[in-house]
Amino acid sequence: MTAITVQDLRKCFPNGQCAIDQLSFRAAAGEFVAIVGPSGAGKSSLLKILCGLDHQFSGQVHSVAAAHTSLVFQEPRLMPWLTVLGNLQLVRPDAPLAELQDMLQSVGLAHSAALYPHQLSGGMQRRVALARAFITAPRLLLLDEPFQALDAPTAEQLRQQLLALWQRCGCTVLFVTHQLSEAVALADRVLFLSQGPSHVLHDLPVALPRPRTVDTPAVQALCHQLLLQRPDLLRGA
Ligand code: ADP
Repeated sequence: MTAITVQDLRKCFPNGQCAIDQLSFRAAAGEFVAIVGPSGAGKSSLLKILCGLDHQFSGQVHSVAAAHTSLVFQEPRLMPWLTVLGNLQLVRPDAPLAELQDMLQSVGLAHSAALYPHQLSGGMQRRVALARAFITAPRLLLLDEPFQALDAPTAEQLRQQLLALWQRCGCTVLFVTHQLSEAVALADRVLFLSQGPSHVLHDLPVALPRPRTVDTPAVQALCHQLLLQRPDLLRGA
């Protein structure tokens, strides 16, 4: 079953600047797809279109309804006046307390429900953002460089929590990153975008067994081999 189809997508802004041109790909339901591309390749523009925030484009886009889509940004974007529990209740006011507590437990925040965002570390705030994204049981989860600027162990812990939550929910994931090893460690497939206005330069299936991390030798070997074959790929060329 296909969750997302993008065919010949073109996105230009009123000032004439085009972010995306001739972009096509599909993502199967339940698939974890990473999107890698240089800065300015139109990755954020693509996510905005896929979640229904932007309708000004040409081409065909079939995505999951906005009501069944969750977004995680670079910044956690928590409501500062609400507790951790309150931030989850904001998006699922009807959720039984036990379900909210279970979700907090799965991101290691079972004892932090009553804390406010300013009382949390950056890593904890991002875990709340993940919990908030999954508590609505989305069919599509869009993440825009969510673990940027975190120290390596914290980023790895969050990646493992993301994978566990994804496996539990079975939703389709599109994960934007510019870190190749992160894309290969996480995803079933990696789409490489060209420089803007972007199209898909390369579609890499990742058939390595899980569990795996950015430090798994097979992950590093695949990244190394790819960059030997396509040294300009990460520059979008
Ligand atoms: P990425 O997320 O890959 O860095 P973006 O989607 O943010 O790329 O931007 C793609 C291109 O579109 C960039 O050249 C950017 O300057 C341009 N762009 C983004 N938003 C606007 C806008 N509102 N008006 C004009 N140009 C824009």
